[in-house]
Amino acid sequence: MTGTLTNWAGNITYTAEELHRPASLDALRALVARSSRVRVLGSGHSFNRIAEPGHGGVLLSLTALAPEIDVDTADRTVRVSGGVRYAELARAVHAKGFALHNMASLPHISVAGSVATGTHGSGIANGSLASAVREVELVTADGSTLTIGRGDDLFDGAVTALGALGVVTALTLDVEPDFEVSQHVFTELPLEGLDFETVAASAYSVSLFTDWGRPGFRQVWLKRRTDRPLPDFPWAEPAAEAMHPVPGMPARNCTEQFGVPGPWHERLPHFRAEFTPSSGSELQSEYLLARTDALAALHALDAIRGTIAPLLQICEVRTVAADRQWLSPAYGRDTVALHFTWVDDTEAVLPVVRGVERALEPFAPRPHWGKVFAVPPTTLRERYARLPDFRALVDGLDPAGTFTNAFVEDLLPPRS
Ligand SMILES: Cc1cc2nc3c(=O)[nH]c(=O)nc-3n(C[C@H](O)[C@H](O)[C@H](O)COP(=O)(O)OP(=O)(O)OC[C@H]3O[C@@H](n4cnc5c(N)ncnc54)[C@H](O)[C@@H]3O)c2cc1C
Repeated sequence: MTGTLTNWAGNITYTAEELHRPASLDALRALVARSSRVRVLGSGHSFNRIAEPGHGGVLLSLTALAPEIDVDTADRTVRVSGGVRYAELARAVHAKGFALHNMASLPHISVAGSVATGTHGSGIANGSLASAVREVELVTADGSTLTIGRGDDLFDGAVTALGALGVVTALTLDVEPDFEVSQHVFTELPLEGLDFETVAASAYSVSLFTDWGRPGFRQVWLKRRTDRPLPDFPWAEPAAEAMHPVPGMPARNCTEQFGVPGPWHERLPHFRAEFTPSSGSELQSEYLLARTDALAALHALDAIRGTIAPLLQICEVRTVAADRQWLSPAYGRDTVALHFTWVDDTEAVLPVVRGVERALEPFAPRPHWGKVFAVPPTTLRERYARLPDFRALVDGLDPAGTFTNAFVEDLLPPRS
C-alpha cells in the first residue's frame, strides 16, 4: 500500500496499492505490459484525482529514471525525459543560450504533468506550455513505444491528454534564443473603467491579482521582455516595496522585481526555483473562458465577491493564446484564465467553487484539469468539441483501458 502518499497540497490521498519507480525504460515497459491499470504521478501538484489509478491500480513515478535534457541548437529544440521538472529544464536550456516561451507561476512542477493538464503562464500571444511541444514519446498499454509528432493526425489529441494515452517518457519542445525579462509590480488598478485588452497586452506576460475584498486589483505584475519596447503603465502606481501576490507572505520567495533585468527563467515564474514551497496550505481552482468575455466575467465575480473573499487567499487573472489541442482549456479561443487560491478547507471551499461556476456559467468556462472544480462531465462535454475524437484516440491506443481512471472515464463521451 502507498499508505499516506498524498498530492503536494495534501487534499488527495492516493488509494493506489503500489507506487512503482522503475529504474530503466525496459523495466518501465515490462511493468506497464503486465499491469491492467496504470497512472503516472508527476510532481503531484494537481488538486484533484486526475492522477489516481484507483484500487488495484499501479501508480508509477519516473523519478528513478536518469533525467535527460538534450538541447539541439541547430533544430532549436530540447528533448526532455518524462520525470524532469521545469526548474531543471529551464537552467539547462538557458545554459545553452536558449529559452522556453513561457513558464507557470512556479518552476517546481514536472514538464510532462504540466503539459498533460494544459498548464499555462500568461501573455496574450503566449500559448499554454503544451503549445511548445513538438513530439511526444509514449510507452503504450502493451509496453511498446510510440512517437507522435506535430503534423501527425493524432498530435493535437496527444499532448494535453490527461495521462490517458500512456506513459510520456520524453517530450521534444521548441526553444527560442535566450531573452531577458524585467518585472514591474503596480498596485491598486480599478475594475471600473478597466480596458482589459490594453492592460493584458501591456507586457509580454501580465497578471492581475485581487483578494475580492473590494473592487479592483491589489497588484499588477508586468513581465517585460527587454528586447521589446517598454510602454508606460499609467493605470496604477508602481509598488513601493517588493511584493508577494498573497497578502502577508514574504516577498523574498518571489522572483526579482523593480525592473531589474534577468534571464527569462528567473522572471517568468512568480516564485523562485531555489525556494521550495513546503506542502501548500491551499486549494486552487481556475476557469478559462474567451478573452472577449474577460470584463463581463470579472464583473460577474465582483457581484459575488462577498462570498468569495472570506475563503480566498488570492485570485489571479492571466491570458493564454488560443491553440488547436483538443483537450486544451484554451482550445480554439484566445483565453482569459481566472484563478483562485483558496484556503485549505475543502468542505468550506466547495460551495463557493459552485457559486463561482454559477456566476461564470454564461461564459462557458473550461476548468483547469489539475485543479478543484465541480462542473459535471455532461457540461464539460459540451465545452470540448473534440472529445469524441479523443475517445476514439484513447480506444485506438488503449482498448483495454490500462491508462484510464474514474476522472477520465467520467469525462469521455459514451462509446457510439
Ligand atoms: C503551487 C502551484 C502552482 C501552480 N501554478 C500553476 C500555473 O501557474 N499555471 C497552471 O496552469 N497551473 C498551475 N498549477 C497546476 C499544475 O501546473 C498542474 O496541476 C500540473 O498538472 C502539475 O504537474 P504535475 O507533474 O505535478 O502533475 P500531477 O498532478 O502529478 O499529474 C497531473 C496529470 O499528469 C499526468 N502525468 C504526469 N506525468 C506524466 C507522464 N510522464 N506520463 C503520462 N502522464 C503523466 C498524471 O497522470 C495526471 O493525470 C499549479 C499548482 C500548484 C500546486
